[in-house]
Amino acid sequence: MPATGRYQSSIPLFYKNGVKIIMMGYVDLHLHTTASDGVLSPSEIVRYAKTKGLQAIAITDHDTIEGLEEGISEGERIGFEVIPGIEISAEHSPGSMHILGFFLDIHHPLLNERLAYLQKARAERNPKIVQKLNRLGIDITFDEVLKASGGGQVGRPHFANVLLQKKYVRSFKEAFDRFLKKGASAYVDKLRFTSKEAIHFINEAKGVAVLAHPNTLGMNGYSELEKLILRLVQEGLRGIEVYYPEHSSSEVAQYKTIAERHGLLATGGTDYHGIEKNGLDIGVGRGEMEIPYSIVENLKAIRNRSLSAYAEDNGFSRR
Ligand code: AMP
Ligand code: ZN
Ligand code: FE
Ligand code: FE
Repeated sequence: MPATGRYQSSIPLFYKNGVKIIMMGYVDLHLHTTASDGVLSPSEIVRYAKTKGLQAIAITDHDTIEGLEEGISEGERIGFEVIPGIEISAEHSPGSMHILGFFLDIHHPLLNERLAYLQKARAERNPKIVQKLNRLGIDITFDEVLKASGGGQVGRPHFANVLLQKKYVRSFKEAFDRFLKKGASAYVDKLRFTSKEAIHFINEAKGVAVLAHPNTLGMNGYSELEKLILRLVQEGLRGIEVYYPEHSSSEVAQYKTIAERHGLLATGGTDYHGIEKNGLDIGVGRGEMEIPYSIVENLKAIRNRSLSAYAEDNGFSRR
């Protein structure tokens, strides 16, 4: 397999009826479905990924594993590999920190207990956003937002869609800028776990923890970022999402260097939500992404190694 990413691989993409098709052997390890704020249902995204010629995907919804059973069973039905994943928002400033978890045991009690706690916090937050908007003179009800969410977890993008539909704003971005983003008039903070807590329950649930899109952390320069990542490694982090559509080529190079220096796996994904502007698509991003299947094999190897280390630490024999 070639080294990953848009800057190394020379394997070409090809076109069929004007549609970009990916060569066999590529994956997308960061995707959202209707279980959080994506537009395609878990089954739909699995079928779409297969149509696009990908070899595997990870479903990584925000703070929920509700879409995983459906996605995995659709994968089994059509013969397509679906990796059970998640994307957890962790406490951080000045920017935002998201931690991906791959190959989770979705029935693990600690994981389910922690996620139920997050759901409860969201359920308390959402009516407060409605209330703030109402106080600003906006006619919006929680039912309308619920409807916009399509039955999955409710998040700010669903509020943005309702504001857009009801013509209070002219764009999705305006909804965030004026009302929903941190510091804006209808913003309500979300309860978050610390990185240590998030990485811990991902590891406990037999997952592999990977730092998502480091460019949103708001770190000032290489050494500040490296220091933060070293702390995360101490907390049990195993990889960095190096390949990501919003990363510049110098960011990709920087994250790759950090990954290599500290023995972290470099992963990649598009963060496709199904509502993308600028032609972003699953697997390919804006045409620059090529994430080889070998990364999935590396994730599996890391997971298996830590599972046997865990068994040994806890006195289980490997024989
Ligand atoms: P929530 O989980 O409810 O806090 O919503 C977070 C989601 O809102 C993120 O995953 C993004 O998809 C979206 N989002 C957050 N900030 C912005 C922003 N400034 N502009 C557009 N979308 C945003
Ligand atoms: Zn999202
Ligand atoms: Fe994210
Ligand atoms: Fe995401």
